[in-house]
Amino acid sequence: MTCASCGGGSLVRRYALRPFDVYECRDCGLRVRHPLPTPTELTAMYEADAYHASAYFQDGRTAARGVGPEIAIYRRGLDDLARMTAPGRLLDVGCGNGVFLDLAREAGWEGSGVEFSTRHVAAAKERYSLEVWQGDFLQAPFEPGVFNAITMWDLLEHVVDPIAVLQKARQLLAPGGALLVFTIDTTSLFNMAGDALYRASGRRAVRAIELLYDGRHNYFFTRNSLHRLLDGSGFTVKRWRGDRAYLGRWLSEPAPWYLVAGGMVLDRLSFALQRPYRQTAICQLDGAS
Ligand SMILES: [Zn+2]
Repeated sequence: MTCASCGGGSLVRRYALRPFDVYECRDCGLRVRHPLPTPTELTAMYEADAYHASAYFQDGRTAARGVGPEIAIYRRGLDDLARMTAPGRLLDVGCGNGVFLDLAREAGWEGSGVEFSTRHVAAAKERYSLEVWQGDFLQAPFEPGVFNAITMWDLLEHVVDPIAVLQKARQLLAPGGALLVFTIDTTSLFNMAGDALYRASGRRAVRAIELLYDGRHNYFFTRNSLHRLLDGSGFTVKRWRGDRAYLGRWLSEPAPWYLVAGGMVLDRLSFALQRPYRQTAICQLDGAS
């Protein structure tokens, strides 16, 4: 195995979970699911009822009111992009049901989307009348250099080849174009707590680790490994920020009050201690003035 962020060859097994193992790069800290899912497994994952029933995708219903944790983060991302470039053509890779693209349109962008799941594409077209290309981003038939901004919300951890995805983004961006990457951060307090529990239990307490290492995620980034991947792919990180967890995703099933309360306390604490669960990198294509 070779590390997809830094190219290092020293990966060690960090967790043995029930569905798969998680390996970690000793050089940059990137963690990776092993084995990676097959193309057939990928298609099944993203068309499954369980995936589409996730609380994460219910934000579409609250978007009109402009509330919900993801909506605030999306709006802030649009503000970040506006500091880098005037609104023009924007491509949202892994656009889901189109909530972000709808907000981008309100902010003056001409948005297009790429989405792997046929069910999301149908929802994005029906709900928001958006232009969305269905399929693997690496095959998407866009002209090179036409986008002023590309966004990847909760995307990079799902792909099989993050370097190829960033190379494709580089080809599609116009000179000076901006890239926004939003993903998890495994240096978070949540991960530290889950890891401590796992070790203290003699590697038996895997439930928390399995929540943190979602089966649909192939890569689990640290701040360092994300920076190295972006640097190596021809992007300069202009701004970086930690972001709070979205507990609704984990607690969408009825959960005991102490788990809900514990999650909220941990989330606030993680932000106060600057060990939040998610991170945003706002980058510019190298070579731009
Ligand atoms: Zn590495």
